[in-house]
Amino acid sequence: MTAAPDDVRREIIGVSQALDAAGLMPNKSGNVSCRTAAGFLITPSGVPYAELTPAQLVELPLTATQEPAGGPRPSSEWRMHRAIYAARPEVQAIVHTHSPRATALACAGRGLPAFHYMIALAGGDVRCMPYATFGSDALADHAVQGLEDRRAVLLANHGVVAVGATPRRAAAVAAEVENMAGQYLDLLAAGLQPQVLSDEEMRAVLAKFEDYGRIERR
Ligand code: 13P
Ligand code: ZN
Repeated sequence: MTAAPDDVRREIIGVSQALDAAGLMPNKSGNVSCRTAAGFLITPSGVPYAELTPAQLVELPLTATQEPAGGPRPSSEWRMHRAIYAARPEVQAIVHTHSPRATALACAGRGLPAFHYMIALAGGDVRCMPYATFGSDALADHAVQGLEDRRAVLLANHGVVAVGATPRRAAAVAAEVENMAGQYLDLLAAGLQPQVLSDEEMRAVLAKFEDYGRIERR
């Protein structure tokens, strides 16, 4: 297997540490990966992001059916990352977080309706998929289904998965999902009923986002 380029390793580590510093990966939760020529490169299981070194990232082929013997263990969610790359050829990077407010919403089994136009960053309303054990094939299936035509999904009683063309873009989607989940919970806590944008309004925003690059292209 050819080694993934060093800049990909550095980007994964940079994004992981930035998400951790922002409080989106509490207690070494979450994981980050990027597609490579040989498959995908993923963060190791349970290694604190502040201590992560390029050599600890694990490269797996899309055909992997078990963890490689020896060396650092890949993230326990490698099956979920593999399944998403296999199902979505355009996806180049995946970020999984336990970001606090989005995870709180997911613990109620609730997704995000299109109550703010920025939800277009996720491709539309964000579904919440049923609970399954972490690291399981069932969780991988739920993530793939929930991501259909979307760039983000909530996993019940667990967290968030976001995808993108680079680790930075996937992280931007995950951060916006956390931001919107906070706004949505604040509205609900205030006893207010969020106004949901119509499909027509969302189509207009999605069309504008096609050539709007500030967040998506960074
Ligand atoms: P890993 O440290 O094995 O990536 O697990 C973190 C996690 O979020 C599991 O769902
Ligand atoms: Zn997790």
